[in-house]
Amino acid sequence: LRKQSKAELVSRLEELKVRYEELSAKKLSLDITRGKPSADVLSLSKQMLTCLSADEFSAEDKTDCRNYGILDGLPEAKKLCGEILEVPAENVFVGGNSSLALMFDIVSRAMTHGIGATAWSKLPEVKAVCLVPGYDRHFAICEHFGIKMVPVELKEDGADIAEVKRLVESDDSFKMMWMVPRHNNPTGQTFSNDNLRQLAQIKPKAKDFRIICDNAYVVHDWYEVGPQVNFLKACQDAGNEDLAFLVGSTSKITFAGAGLSFLAGSPANLKWIKAHAFFQTIGYDKINMLRHVKFLKNLSGVKALMKKHAELIKPKFDATLDALEKNIAGKGIASWTNPKGGYFVGLDVLPGTAKRVDQLAVSAGLKLTKVGSTYPYGKDPKDSNIRIAPTFPGLEEVKKAMELLCVCVELAALEKLT
Ligand code: PMP
Repeated sequence: LRKQSKAELVSRLEELKVRYEELSAKKLSLDITRGKPSADVLSLSKQMLTCLSADEFSAEDKTDCRNYGILDGLPEAKKLCGEILEVPAENVFVGGNSSLALMFDIVSRAMTHGIGATAWSKLPEVKAVCLVPGYDRHFAICEHFGIKMVPVELKEDGADIAEVKRLVESDDSFKMMWMVPRHNNPTGQTFSNDNLRQLAQIKPKAKDFRIICDNAYVVHDWYEVGPQVNFLKACQDAGNEDLAFLVGSTSKITFAGAGLSFLAGSPANLKWIKAHAFFQTIGYDKINMLRHVKFLKNLSGVKALMKKHAELIKPKFDATLDALEKNIAGKGIASWTNPKGGYFVGLDVLPGTAKRVDQLAVSAGLKLTKVGSTYPYGKDPKDSNIRIAPTFPGLEEVKKAMELLCVCVELAALEKLT
């Protein structure tokens, strides 16, 4: 579009304004803000509510799951969660219903008590590497604790290794980094094996530097994707086994509000987790662990369920990508990712227009994830990134939302270009 004459642009702008007014007049109420499972995806796990009878409360080792006890999770739950994270059961800690809470706890404990070194809160400055665009709630945890976030651009194949090394290998105020290696939130990118291996080899200046590797979408493939190196294993192979915590949950497998969260780490990291969790709880919800094991059984059970998820979710991704392709491809005003799974598509609109796109969308009845929230402090320096979350609305709603979004993207670009 940038190559067209002013007259051509103005004429297209007028045309689009008419289309925009037509869509606005429909008084739509569309929402592609949050990455939530839809009701029909949740219903795929409805047997979770009935799979245990009133007499089924004993674990395999005869533990009465109704009672207190077992801090790190039932052995069979550790086995199941370990299979999801591809690590042995002994490396696993099973928590409550939220992996975000586990991640918050890691940072919180590091702040108050440190990880085998000075408590982070006692240091003059603590910094985190934040791959961008990234997950707003990761960034919110850092902001909550006053950890200074330093953005590092995500590349096609994962982290910008040279930049990560430059930062963390020379400055011991860098204490942590976030990553979502398979189907990143919000771009859907999947890190290459090479990238993961190189990341596992970094030598941070701070011995208590940790990478929180968030595996929220590790079994959420909607299209063919090859196997991925396990990051904890890569760290072990690199002689860096304390570098990473792997974190995950069944929030996007069974019930988003009533799943299981889990983490995996080296023996030293798990010891640290348990030493703190001991003061926090006598044990997490073992009935829910039992329910999950009965319903999902093992990794094959998880994969079979995720195939059913894919049948419902893939058409929404197809619709999202088709709309972008059909309406804005080739105009030189936007680019987008082509995720193979996960819950999001990342859209980069003409720099300086994302907020305007949001304004136009909201006025016409379409809610988008808060623009800027995919960057630390809610500040997208280019005002360009928009996170599309197509999983929650029905397919027809996704199609309508995407048609409207594409009109808003082009309209905002034309306003700027004219
Ligand atoms: N991590 C990522 C990357 C997510 O996208 C989400 C959900 N949007 C979560 C964690 C939250 O997971 P949980 O429900 O286990 O707290």
